[in-house]
Amino acid sequence: MLKLGMREKELTLYLVVPCYNEEAVLPKSSQVMLDEMKKLQKTAGVSSRSRIVLVDDGSRDATWEIIEDLAKEPSFVGLKLAHNRGHQNALLAGLMWARERADVVVSMDADLQDDVAVLDDFVARYREGAEIVYGVRNSRATDTGFKRKTAGLFYKLMDWLGVETVPDHADYRLMSKVALEALADYGETNVFLRGLVPNLGFKTAVVKYGRGKRAAGESKYPLHKMLNFAIEGVTSFSVRPLRLIFALGVLLSLVAVGIIIYTLAVKIMGQTVSGWAFLTVSIWLLGGLQMICLGVVGEYIGKIYVEAKRRPRFHIEKTVGK
Ligand code: UDP
Ligand code: MG
Repeated sequence: MLKLGMREKELTLYLVVPCYNEEAVLPKSSQVMLDEMKKLQKTAGVSSRSRIVLVDDGSRDATWEIIEDLAKEPSFVGLKLAHNRGHQNALLAGLMWARERADVVVSMDADLQDDVAVLDDFVARYREGAEIVYGVRNSRATDTGFKRKTAGLFYKLMDWLGVETVPDHADYRLMSKVALEALADYGETNVFLRGLVPNLGFKTAVVKYGRGKRAAGESKYPLHKMLNFAIEGVTSFSVRPLRLIFALGVLLSLVAVGIIIYTLAVKIMGQTVSGWAFLTVSIWLLGGLQMICLGVVGEYIGKIYVEAKRRPRFHIEKTVGK
């Protein structure tokens, strides 16, 4: 089997790590990643051409200076984005850059919450034939109760809206060159990788890992960013919310029919102020009609919106290392 044979050869593995204001944790986490990389080179048939790509997502602290310093060691490469584009875009920038150079790319956070110890499992699943390997956390014990609840709700909502996601999988995943080439064909501006990647197809595998606490520094995902992320996920993958507006319109119109009958009956029985019937009927009927119209218009806007995402998603200002 030629294909399996190819998978047995030495692999060039790139780690892609988005970093936004990570001066507190990067000196430590970069060392942990480097040590693991060296270990993989000894034990997992990973080549010495492998790299750790640190993507500076427009940080305002000393992150880029730290990266420049790290890049003196040939295992590190730094990409500096022209400004802060958010986690998903920073990740995408790194993935797209790495795909031309690597056999497999693993994306992970800068704060060591993604356990580097399972990287050899990722590689093993790839060697067994998976093009995409998802890191799925085996418990949410390190999360606050609030985050656990909202995350659970989010996955349920996505499921209900017909969007395929992998529950309890963040962005810790391995993608082969083939999978990355496919991802590169998606031109949308609003990237939601957790929805896009399951969309690609291919043979996938799952590796369970324990997600630790952030090693140092603060979370770069405050509540409003989390909410934005969730809305992004929903609106990039489902037009069902628009359909719901439409359904609401239909429902209201049905109610209007009932109200019409009721008002007419009351009027015939003569128990009403003059003009009341007309006003009541108009309010309900027009409300329902407007909802239907909004739904129809929304449906079109939704389509145009999905198609029109053609803006560049990031600009790489400079790089260090190679
Ligand atoms: N991040 C980024 N750009 C941003 C926000 C976050 O590149 O605008 C990176 C951040 O440096 C980290 C990863 O995304 O490597 C995940 O962020 P964080 O650990 O703060 O999120 P949490 O784990 O708290 O959800
Ligand atoms: Mg984190």
